[in-house]
This record gives sequence, C-alpha cells and structure tokens, in this order.
Amino acid sequence: MTSPHDAAEAPRGSARAASAGRGDSPSFHAMWTSLHGIGRNAASGGYRRYAWTQADADCRLWFRMQAEARRLDVETDRNGNQWAWLGDPTAGDAVVTGSHLDSVPDGGAFDGPLGVVSSFAALDELRARGVSFKRPLAIVNFGDEEGARFGLACVGSRLTAGRLTKEQAYELRDADGISLPQAMEAAGHDPSTIGADPERLARIGAFVELHVEQGRALDLSGDPVGIASSIWPHGRWRYDFAGEANHAGTTRLVDRRDPMLTYAETVLAARREAELAGAVATFGKIAVEPNGVNAIPSMVRGWLDARAADQSSLDKVVAGVEAEARAYAERHGIDLTVVRESFTPIVDFSHALRDELSRILGTTGKVPVLGTGAGHDAGILSEAIPTAMLFVRNPTGVSHSPAEFAAEDDCVAGVLALADVLEELACR
Ligand SMILES: [Zn+2]
Repeated sequence: MTSPHDAAEAPRGSARAASAGRGDSPSFHAMWTSLHGIGRNAASGGYRRYAWTQADADCRLWFRMQAEARRLDVETDRNGNQWAWLGDPTAGDAVVTGSHLDSVPDGGAFDGPLGVVSSFAALDELRARGVSFKRPLAIVNFGDEEGARFGLACVGSRLTAGRLTKEQAYELRDADGISLPQAMEAAGHDPSTIGADPERLARIGAFVELHVEQGRALDLSGDPVGIASSIWPHGRWRYDFAGEANHAGTTRLVDRRDPMLTYAETVLAARREAELAGAVATFGKIAVEPNGVNAIPSMVRGWLDARAADQSSLDKVVAGVEAEARAYAERHGIDLTVVRESFTPIVDFSHALRDELSRILGTTGKVPVLGTGAGHDAGILSEAIPTAMLFVRNPTGVSHSPAEFAAEDDCVAGVLALADVLEELACR
C-alpha cells in the first residue's frame, strides 16, 4: 500500500530517469534507509528532529558514522554545526557542501537530509571516478536550521555568520521555558563560546547546498534538477483589527463593529494583491478575543506572511493589502494597526558561481534557474562567501509535511549533478 507516510521509507518513483546512462548512486539508498527511522513519529509519519534533543543527537551520531566510514575528520564547531573534512581544514579556499538534518514539527524526510545524504553520496561518486582533490572539501550539517524549538530559523549558520549575537541567542527559549544555552549544555555542547566565527568562514571558497524543491517549478518544467537564482524577499506583518465585543444573538447586524468581517475581507484582498503581483501572501495565524462562539469579537489579530521575487513587487503587495484593509476597516468602524514584525531582504546568490554551475551542468541541456520563497542556511552564508544552491524536483510541491517527496531517480540525478559541480570546483 502506498501512502504519503510511506514515501519517506525509500524514495522510489517512476519519474523520468535523468541519470539514465549516467550511472547510479549505490550508497544513496543505503544511507537514506539508515537515516529513515531517526526522529520519525510513527503515528503521523512525519519527523520531529528538534535542535538539541535525543533525535538531534541521533542524527549527529549518524553524520559522524557516515563521515568516519569515509575516513573524513569530523568536528563540531563552537555553534554546534558539524563538519566532515577531506583534506586540511586550515589550508583555505575549501569547497563546502551540505545542509541540515533537523526538521519542522512532523516535517518531511527530504527537507535538509536530502542535501546531507547527497553530499556523502557525491563524495562516493567522485572517489569512484578516481579524481584527486586540489582543494579541501567539507560536508556540513548545520544545527537548528528550521528553528522548530526556539522559534528562530538558521541559528547555527546565523551565529557563525555573526547575524545572531551570543546575547540574542541566550535569550531564545523553547515552549517549556528552556533556554538555548541550557539545551546545548544538556546535550553536551558548551554554549559559552557561541558566536561569530569569521576564521571558519575565511577558510571556505565556495558553499553549495543541495535541497529538495519546496514548490512545483521543476515539476512544471519537467526537469529533475535546477539551480537557485535568489531567495525572495519576505516578511511578516501583524494586523490588529479592534472592534466591539457584543452578544451574537441580540446585536442587530447594522449595530455591529465586527472585526472578523474586516479580517475576512483583508484575507481576500491579500489573495488578490498577490495574484496581481505574481507573489504569495498568506494569513496563516489568527488570534481572536474573546474567542467565544456566541460573541462578536472585540479583536482579531492576523499575521500576514508575504513574499515576492523582487522588492518592488513585495512593496506593491504589502501596500495594497494594507490600503484595502484600511478601507474595509473604515466602513465597519474598526480600528486597524499594522506592525511589521520581521523582514528579510532578497538574497541574490553569487552570479559567478551560479553561471559556473549552469555551465557545468548545462553540457547535456539547459538547467533551469529558479527563485525560491523559502529561507536556507545558504542564504545566510551568501553574504560572506560565494554560495549556490541546487534544487531536486518535488512532484507534489509539498514541503514541511510527510507528503514531501522526491523520486529516487531524481535524487540520484541530484547526487550526480552535485558530484559534477564538486569535481569541477575542487578537483580542477
Ligand atoms: Zn531545509
């Protein structure tokens, strides 16, 4: 029987074999199977690999075993990221690949692990090709990428890049009130030296992260592998709609100041504005006061997540939604306050490295270059070092869910593409 929950067990599928005639990746399947059970919730079929938990420790042990089996030198840096080195880490100009092993609550099997497994498999492929390495190579497992436990994404790479200070990191707490340093300590990691690590970044000449695609662009274009152009600018805005609480049975419709109505119209406006701009906009979280089934709300608080390919499109969406919300609010006698809670500008990956990847992978046909609305460690590092990303087709387009999927043929195509890139960068 096939269900989305079984998808994680072994990614087999009937997708066109882009790798046909180009060999296989014998180690991919074995690694995938050995990682499959770690942190998996049997009931949901999803993964709960949260930072500094037992599941995280099990993933880290898995990483160490894979590295040691390949005679790589393993180290954990001061921020809890794991590195497996081939060659001298201090030689400089290293080529680094990898991703993360942690997950969102009930996440899929591919987001993160596909990049780590593919990195080891690509190294196996290069060794089978008999190449010799001219630059040091490292495979990295970034800690706490999803931010599922402490609410902030990419903590490991942010700390390393100096985008999160030690003081800020010490303030992070999980749902049980356990602080990040407490969690690190409990897991056997000394938190006292966390923080920017410019010496480490200075050793890296290029970083390439392979990741499952979290949309359907590759499925629609019919390609197993693509190259990232940029990470869309994105942000979160809190909308407070303040009205008047009253009895749901006795208050005439004309007498109401119902913020839920204004909120509902604003949700529709967000959809319209996003469609007009070719962007995405989502109200995915809402808080209602007093939250009674027989009460007109006094307050509806909704959070808008908006993302677009470029800043001007995003500005258009955000301004458009707010203007429409204000017009509706006035009509219904609602007081509206809009607060921007977070914002991340566009990440434009290194054009030189992206063009090089296009050249390396383009020998057998054109490889699509696509933007993404999702954040990644590669986006954090791209400010400091030349960085690129490869995406592997996800036929469902679903991510952060057990339904996330990539066919094994496509995974192997990703491994071979990554191997081609690493060979060109590290061996020539
Ligand atoms: Zn990811």
